[in-house]
Amino acid sequence: MSASLATVSYLGATILFILCLGGLSNQETARRGNLYGMIGMTIAVLATVFGPRVASAGLPWIIGATVVGGAIGLYLARVVKMTQMPELVAFMHSLVGLAACLVGFASYIDTSITFTGAEKAIHEIEIYVGILIGAVTFSGSVIAFGKLSGKVGGKPLLLPGRHFINLIGLLVVIYFGYAFLQAETVQAGMTPLIVMTVISLLFGIHMVMAIGGADMPVVVSMLNSYSGWAAAATGFMLSNDLLIVTGALVGSSGAILSYIMCAAMNRNFISVIAGGFGSDGGAPAAKPAGGSAEPAGEVSPILAAETAELLREAKNVVIVPGYGMAVAQAQHTVFEITSHLRAKGVNVRFAIHPVAGRMPGHMNVLLAEAKVPYDIVMEMDEINEDFPETDVAMVIGANDIVNPAAQEDPASPIAGMPVLEVWKAKTSIVMKRSMASGYAGVDNPLFYKDNNRMLFGDAKKMLDEVLVALKS
Ligand code: NDP
Repeated sequence: MSASLATVSYLGATILFILCLGGLSNQETARRGNLYGMIGMTIAVLATVFGPRVASAGLPWIIGATVVGGAIGLYLARVVKMTQMPELVAFMHSLVGLAACLVGFASYIDTSITFTGAEKAIHEIEIYVGILIGAVTFSGSVIAFGKLSGKVGGKPLLLPGRHFINLIGLLVVIYFGYAFLQAETVQAGMTPLIVMTVISLLFGIHMVMAIGGADMPVVVSMLNSYSGWAAAATGFMLSNDLLIVTGALVGSSGAILSYIMCAAMNRNFISVIAGGFGSDGGAPAAKPAGGSAEPAGEVSPILAAETAELLREAKNVVIVPGYGMAVAQAQHTVFEITSHLRAKGVNVRFAIHPVAGRMPGHMNVLLAEAKVPYDIVMEMDEINEDFPETDVAMVIGANDIVNPAAQEDPASPIAGMPVLEVWKAKTSIVMKRSMASGYAGVDNPLFYKDNNRMLFGDAKKMLDEVLVALKS
């Protein structure tokens, strides 16, 4: 492939990636956006592999690696459960970081690159910064993978003087950066490069370990952004314009997503990085955090048949899905119940909290998969004021996102986080298996409110029973 054809292909791929991101901003155009992304990526890979910068002797290696990597990706995509998607995404981010590190070291020891003067300095800065971002992304994403999959506890690791430790790390990295740029030979430059890599890896681990359960959504989107910047850094090292543009697109869209997540949780970015929010947070099996919202009374259980009765009599119903709906894979039954009630003239709408589930847009994806119409799926801000006029608020496997302690208890670890105010409905029904806390590990006073009922059991099983009762 000629150089000019490769450039035109890169341009085409860039435009497709931008159209892809534009399409993903709306549920109705998301499928088309994904298609643009896939076509763009195919063009990008073909133009790179068959472009002027790859010697034909290297092709068998590249094709072999593509087949192996593609087969692993295909296998993982087929076997991964929807509830494991967030950890898979975190794992993928770690691979981008690892690639940036490996490309950085490879570019440094590549004897065919012979820059001098300012060009050499710029190339070495690209390598140093690229490896730094790559190493932080790699180790941070591995820890995020562990936290999301429950292999690493969600409780934040708050080392004494942790900000001081980070500051020392930063100063050491700057000092070794200077030493790296002064090094006359590759051997001499290797030591500062390795020291910086180790510090960056430790920083990535420390940064994510210090973050409490409730802040994980911001961390996931932040690592998404880092992986983009790591890819852009790789693009600089390899002088590949497409990688620079693509990395910058991912980096900046991830940064915007982090901002949206911070706004959704009423947190500022710096305090998220500083860590600690959602203190006793843990994986799904977390125990309630001490100190706030102690169990405050009796709960009132309800049966599936009684739930169906309340739904049948209601005029306005709001369904609040959460992580438990994903675990139970209850979205199809939710759709059937919705269709049944709508056919009977009940106004059914969905309330989506920005951090519901375990990844941005988690609930929207599940509801779209079950073919729930988009126009009855509302964002938190669109529907929160409607709860006082709601007859039944049905909470399906959600917990933290409907926790009134965020508003009522200033000492709560999630104080200040905006939540869906389901307790303002005439009746709220919470569907979950036990009294266990959610991801942030905080007890939920909603369960003890007078107008709240608990429908205990697996969400899919309970909803199936509700559906049978509704139809009978
Ligand atoms: P939560 O984790 O707060 O609560 C989920 C609830 O679902 C649990 O209390 C659990 O209770 C219940 N549950 C689990 N399995 C089932 C089942 N099979 N049937 C019925 N219920 C079930 O989820 P939310 O969606 O309310 O909130 C999301 C939380 O995750 C927030 O803290 C958010 O910060 C965090 N998070 C979000 C991310 C994102 O990007 N969206 C990323 C990382 C973290 P029980 O065990 O009793 O059934």
